[in-house]
Amino acid sequence: MRTSIATVCLSGSLREKLHAAAAAGFDGVELFEPDLVAAPETPEEVAALARRLGLSLDLYQPFRDAEGVSEAEFCRVLRRARLKFVLMQRLGIDTMLVCSNVATASVDDDEVSAAQLRRLGDLAAEHGVRIAYEALAWGRFVDDYRRSWRIVELADHEAVGLCLDSFHILSRGHDPAAIEDVPGAKIFFLQLADAPDLSLDVLSWSRHHRLFPGEGCFDLGSFVGHVLRAGYAGPLSLEVFNDVFRQTDVDRTARQARRSLTWLEDVVADEGSWPSLADPPARLPEIAQPVGLDFVEVRAEDTGEADVVLGQLGFTFRGRHRSKDARLWTEGRARVVCNEQQPREPEPRLAAVGFEVEDPAASAARARALHASVVFRRTLAQEQELPAFRAPDGTEVFLGHPATEGGDPRWAPEFQGGHEPGASLLTGIDHVNLAEPWQCFDEAVLFYSSVLGLTVAAAQEVPSLRGLVRSQVLRSGSGACRLALNVAPLAWDQASGYPQHVAFATDDVVTVARRAVERGLVPLEIPQNYYEDLHSRFDLPAAEVETMAELGLLHDRDATGDFTHFYTATVGSVFFEVVQRRGAYDGFGAPNAAVRLAAQSR
Ligand code: MG
Ligand code: MG
Repeated sequence: MRTSIATVCLSGSLREKLHAAAAAGFDGVELFEPDLVAAPETPEEVAALARRLGLSLDLYQPFRDAEGVSEAEFCRVLRRARLKFVLMQRLGIDTMLVCSNVATASVDDDEVSAAQLRRLGDLAAEHGVRIAYEALAWGRFVDDYRRSWRIVELADHEAVGLCLDSFHILSRGHDPAAIEDVPGAKIFFLQLADAPDLSLDVLSWSRHHRLFPGEGCFDLGSFVGHVLRAGYAGPLSLEVFNDVFRQTDVDRTARQARRSLTWLEDVVADEGSWPSLADPPARLPEIAQPVGLDFVEVRAEDTGEADVVLGQLGFTFRGRHRSKDARLWTEGRARVVCNEQQPREPEPRLAAVGFEVEDPAASAARARALHASVVFRRTLAQEQELPAFRAPDGTEVFLGHPATEGGDPRWAPEFQGGHEPGASLLTGIDHVNLAEPWQCFDEAVLFYSSVLGLTVAAAQEVPSLRGLVRSQVLRSGSGACRLALNVAPLAWDQASGYPQHVAFATDDVVTVARRAVERGLVPLEIPQNYYEDLHSRFDLPAAEVETMAELGLLHDRDATGDFTHFYTATVGSVFFEVVQRRGAYDGFGAPNAAVRLAAQSR
């Protein structure tokens, strides 16, 4: 399907926006009037630039407060519209967005609005253009697409149609099913935006918090399905007002936007069939969710401190890589590679995460189709080709075959000269927690959900000593693959960097902790006040709480089960956690996160 993006989605000058939209692969743009007004280029120069870039100018927007007004006011509307229609001719744009009246409406009457739109339609037709009427969620009288459609139907003019905007419909909780009752030819334009689940007035929600499809909570797949079944054949166009995207790199945001539509087209294609569409939604290579976390990689000039902590946690040194300056540590299915090859920073950091996927070739093809950037990796003969892509936060994402039950993954024999693993107390990697720069967060959610097929769980906020940490979990349905993304407050970034961590799973966290302490591990120091509170909250036996205090264990419980865990000290910007889940506990010990963050600040 054809794709388009409103210039208001992107940062920079109009010229920069057009270049970025074209480079990201959009077919066209919606020209946002303030972008044109502020531009030094003449309308003819803008049209020529768009042509040169291969972009169509699909929509001129917005034209406000046009209908539901007194006759005197409407004369002023006609004068304003005539000038805009002439301007559209100079730009070569054939459709103008007319949004429902917010400011000057004084007549709450469909007949009056329809008659005024009809006269506007006459004027538009004289100039060879047309108008697309949009019900704003905060329109004075018209705030529902079913009413804007009734008015367009009453206007009964070939130059008057509808503009549908997913935000205005879904933010109000209006059922989009009735879109299928609108003849496709009367839907002149379709604007798409996602949004997070917020309780906020619709205007502030819309102006500041719209997101690209796949980054929020709207069901855009079925929404677009209704529009396509109605017979709409125009572009899928993004209109996203967002405080972050207004200031992030224009090319990067444009690529993110384009990825969101590639993902959405695939979701829409799943939703139903459109036999009449000449240009049906495109498919992505199909994949299953990851079946597990294969490995994590800690990278530094010298990862020695990380090797020490892993040894204390009971990991076995399995050997050095044949051709790279890297070492492998394993314990059960938990695998950590310590890599001193080409470090970007001197201090240890979490540089890569390996995912176990059933069909790495299909997963890699899907990542490429979603415009993920490829990580180049030197691979020698007889070494496993592990496809890898760079996530928006810089993390390298590797896609490998699942290890056989009780065995090693296919790439493990590349590490030689280590020891055979013995009986293990750790069972695998429970979750990985990545720090997200604030400007990468939404893009990262889209990346991990669209490329890997992970499901987005509800977001949480965790207090630290220096600001709230926003936390978002992405996971597979089975829970075998859990990823937590954290947006750290700026104060953390400016200090030593917000730490990332890897949590290992065990069925006996007390023994793991005890043996680690015997090997010299110093667990993160948890204050006695925490244990007094724990005792009062959960009515735990005093001896059990004493053991927890002695070993630095933390505890949480909910209706489904409980969770006991401990943390190591931080090495560079990485620390490790060991967790034991009992029953069906599916969380991450969130009530303990503030205690952990405070301890790490000391
Ligand atoms: Mg809109
Ligand atoms: Mg954790």
